[in-house]
Amino acid sequence: MSAQANLPDFTLSPEEVPIVVTEVLPSERVSALKSEIATALKDRGATLIAHYYVDGDVQDLAEETGGCVADSLEMARFGRDHTAGTLVVAGVRFMGETAKILSPDKRVIMPTLEAQCSLDLGCPPDAFEAFCQANPDRTVVVYANTSARVKALSDWVVTSSVALPIVESLAARDEKILWAPDKHLGHYIQTCTGADMLLWSGACVVHEEFKAKALFDMKALYPDAGVLVHPESPAAVIDIADSVGSTSHILQAASQLPQQTFIVATDRGLFHKLRQRNPGKRFIEAPTAGDGATCRSCAHCPWMAMNELSRLAACLRDTAVMTANEIHVDPTIAERAMVPLTRMLEFQSAAAN
Ligand code: SF4
Repeated sequence: MSAQANLPDFTLSPEEVPIVVTEVLPSERVSALKSEIATALKDRGATLIAHYYVDGDVQDLAEETGGCVADSLEMARFGRDHTAGTLVVAGVRFMGETAKILSPDKRVIMPTLEAQCSLDLGCPPDAFEAFCQANPDRTVVVYANTSARVKALSDWVVTSSVALPIVESLAARDEKILWAPDKHLGHYIQTCTGADMLLWSGACVVHEEFKAKALFDMKALYPDAGVLVHPESPAAVIDIADSVGSTSHILQAASQLPQQTFIVATDRGLFHKLRQRNPGKRFIEAPTAGDGATCRSCAHCPWMAMNELSRLAACLRDTAVMTANEIHVDPTIAERAMVPLTRMLEFQSAAAN
């Protein structure tokens, strides 16, 4: 049984989603910036940790310099286990905060602190705390895409890679769940597990825009294509999928499934890695609501797009910018948030062994 909580709609309006204009740089400029950043990372004893949704050049640079490109779970673990004293996180704000919580003695910086997430913004801590207090009999499970304060209020933090088995194990113990913030992911997990879940009403501005009818029509044009869908998408889109899962799951499915063409419903940043790992296969963007000026995200997260090479270079070049872009988390909140985060990482390690 799942229920939508009696709450205001926390989905962001179009006016709340920033318009980000990214400049396409000439290849010589890209090479110069990459080389400058690589040197600065070395000089500052830093490692670059990038999410699959950021610019392809930033992803390549992370791998070329010994950092990593990963989903948010792996980013957190990589940062915690790496010996570098400074972690440079190319992603969105909650990823930087998670890195800082797990590595309190390291310096964590980001190319910009403006890189937010609609799920994080759509789960204000005070309203969430009142929601938890109104439902004290429920185990609080929050998605990693939340602020440190919201994590500190939870029993479990999950990413889309581990949400399903964690909720399954809680349901097996007859625990009733309070889930936040993504209503689509919550609904998908409830459908798979049958858990008793009370859902917050947030959504991702990228995945919520994928449209089932248009995807169905596209599938008719490419009848042999496989459909890969991230579970932050609406249920009607998930219903058409051949495979549903996190960014890591989508990468794995694209390599393992026999189809040569895939329609992919997730942020277009993932296409860089999909094409690198599957050079002979074809990847097509799933249709969104409207295009150009009429869609909110057009399948690319505006906040992820802020992680440009030029911003990354600027924050490593200039100590004042670096200081301004450092992530700080209140130690009391960090200590509380560490508990559900560690629970998630330990669950994942035990499942992997
Ligand atoms: S793609 Fe969606 S969930 Fe991911 S950071 Fe952007 S707004 Fe948040």
